[in-house]
Amino acid sequence: MSVDTGQSRRKINPDLEQLAHLQKIDQETARKTDLKDNALPAEIEGLRVSYENARERLKKFDDELSAINKQRKELELKVEETRDSIAKAKQKLPGVKTNVEYRAILKEQDNFEKKIVLMEDEQLELMESIDTKSGERKQLEKSESEEKQKFEVNKKEKEEAMGELGERLAELSAQRDEIITAISPGVYANYSKVSRQRSGVGVAEIVDQSCRACFQLIPPQLDVLIRTTGEIYQCPHCDRYLYHVPEESETS
Ligand SMILES: [Zn+2]
Repeated sequence: MSVDTGQSRRKINPDLEQLAHLQKIDQETARKTDLKDNALPAEIEGLRVSYENARERLKKFDDELSAINKQRKELELKVEETRDSIAKAKQKLPGVKTNVEYRAILKEQDNFEKKIVLMEDEQLELMESIDTKSGERKQLEKSESEEKQKFEVNKKEKEEAMGELGERLAELSAQRDEIITAISPGVYANYSKVSRQRSGVGVAEIVDQSCRACFQLIPPQLDVLIRTTGEIYQCPHCDRYLYHVPEESETS
């Protein structure tokens, strides 16, 4: 049962009607501005950093790989040099006069051979490492290209969304400018002040005899005044302008 039986004709303050509308615009504006200027750019930046990291990992890996390849080439060169040294030592053999000299050359040769064996072992290890790494590289390459794709696709989508938000914000701003002209300057100034002080909300609905913004109870006599007079009132607790949305039984 409605408590307003017999009061089907309600007076609604015109400023209040505009304020409720303005409040919706301001809230949508705040949400969309935040999305456009903060949330979406932060998401794009996050994806950019992920892609950048994947690219860095691949680059670091390639640097390591080319360092190993360089090492392998140097080693190859050293093996060749050592083989040359062995060949030169062999050339000396026919001209050798003494046993001591002969043994010295053989020993030198033997040392060179041992050196080559060690270097070849090292080469083998490097080759194995290069083999393993080329498998790992495929993974890194895949991850890099996935991150790149994700970043580029998302960036495009989000930038489009930001563009649409910008258009909507321009619409809202135009609507706002129009509404403001229809509100009494004093009421608008008050609304703006309270809205700035109270997280962007300057007008609140009364639900179950409470202010929906600060959740405090409204004195019953004030509630009646808001329902029945065409005046505009502020919440005694939070200073927001209060309005009452008629129940269906009241409007019919
Ligand atoms: Zn309140």
